[in-house]
Amino acid sequence: MDYKVVIIGAGPAGIFAALTLAQAGLSPVLLVEQGKDLKDRNRHAANDMLCGWGGAGAFSDGKLTLSPEVGGFLGDIVGTGALKDLLAEADGIYVRFGAPDRLYGGMTPEMEELADRARLADLELIPMAIRHIGTENCLIVLDRLKEAVSRSVDIRTNCRAVKILADEGAVRGVELSDGRVVRCRYVIAAPGRCGAPWMKEQARLLGLPSQASPVDIGVRVELPAVVFKEITDITYESKFVYYTKTFDDKVRTFCMNPYGEVVQERNGSMITVNGHSYASKKTANTNFALLLSSAFTEPFDDPIAYGRYIAHLANLLGKGVIVQRLGDLMAGRRSTRERLARCLTRPTLQEAIPGDLSYVFPYRHLLGLVEMLHALDKIAPGTASRHTLLYGVEVKFYSHRIQLSPELETSVRNLFAAGDGAGITRGLLQASVSGMLAARAVLKRESQ
Ligand SMILES: Cc1cc2nc3c(=O)[nH]c(=O)nc-3n(C[C@H](O)[C@H](O)[C@H](O)COP(=O)(O)OP(=O)(O)OC[C@H]3O[C@@H](n4cnc5c(N)ncnc54)[C@H](O)[C@@H]3O)c2cc1C
Repeated sequence: MDYKVVIIGAGPAGIFAALTLAQAGLSPVLLVEQGKDLKDRNRHAANDMLCGWGGAGAFSDGKLTLSPEVGGFLGDIVGTGALKDLLAEADGIYVRFGAPDRLYGGMTPEMEELADRARLADLELIPMAIRHIGTENCLIVLDRLKEAVSRSVDIRTNCRAVKILADEGAVRGVELSDGRVVRCRYVIAAPGRCGAPWMKEQARLLGLPSQASPVDIGVRVELPAVVFKEITDITYESKFVYYTKTFDDKVRTFCMNPYGEVVQERNGSMITVNGHSYASKKTANTNFALLLSSAFTEPFDDPIAYGRYIAHLANLLGKGVIVQRLGDLMAGRRSTRERLARCLTRPTLQEAIPGDLSYVFPYRHLLGLVEMLHALDKIAPGTASRHTLLYGVEVKFYSHRIQLSPELETSVRNLFAAGDGAGITRGLLQASVSGMLAARAVLKRESQ
């Protein structure tokens, strides 16, 4: 045996698994990461954006959400109460490694009042506490984590796990892209969303039961920060949920960035939109996503293909990301450069092409998004202004959900799966917790 444990992926799940094993003194442990080392990553390069030390969140603005309702499904596996404690524990580690002390939100009297106002507007406010690391601090925290892990864990970047090897119902090792076969007792697979197709293929080869997850499709909304100021002053990130009148679909706000900027993202052959904010550098705008979930069963059961199709349609029509004033959308006309020049919301994403999102979204989606904007307008007047900007499309893919035990073990003995790649998490903090859980299961087994 070359290593006791091989960890696949250096995102939050893999890093927290490695840190847990390192702190417990278990060795030898190998962590393989297909992407580059943190210092060599370039946020504008397609592959570096999601891959490399730090994973998909390395260039994010690092919002740690302390609510068990948000960021994944670990609550279904370990229970909501236990998850709450684990989230607080992982959050504490981020603070120890340099995340700012300040916590936003939680169920304060102002939040109670906001929740009441939301109810009157047919919206549900999901209360949660958020820690905002900030884009610039994320890299510092990740660097410190690397230093701590590398003291006792072998880290190999630019090294891809090609195949997970199993025999007689137990994991035996990992075949790497350099041709080496590493024998080990345990594998913790944490390949993230970019490694989800690979994980799905490994699940097929190993016969691991899994199921498709829904895809979330929508727009990034940008408006003057003053429109949401009262809300973002109370809670940095507010999660509102709305059920559409026409289709009873769930629409939710996601990833709110007060004083932030809208960014374009390359996702393979797709160009999609996202948003972020810095802890110190401020713009005049706030942005957030409005997303609608779509799940499919029969005869079509490939939500990822559906999401890609919509994103590619936007790219086909707009040669990239499309931006439209809400006023133009409602008036049944496209936005143009001239119309955009008269928009009181100054776009922070310059590369977006003025166009018409009604050619991109199915009626069901478009109606749901517009209905929600009008509901939000009741608690944040100005949201449904004709000057509100809509960028499309924003799409969130979730990995196939692998069937796991409460210890995050797959049906192959000693093969654990963690993080977004296993389809059980959707955010930094739950991904980190999942890595801790898998590592603890390994430690427990080793101590028996
Ligand atoms: C732009 C952006 C902003 C975000 N902002 C936030 C936020 O503010 N708050 C929040 O909670 N969440 C945020 N998220 C989501 C968050 O980043 C993810 O939920 C989290 O990173 C998942 O962690 P993970 O470890 O499961 O996977 P990842 O972070 O995706 O890491 C997986 C790693 O595994 C590597 N890998 C994959 N396959 C292999 C293989 N075969 N061999 C070796 N290595 C492999 C990948 O290269 C990658 O580095 C954001 C995501 C993005 C893209």
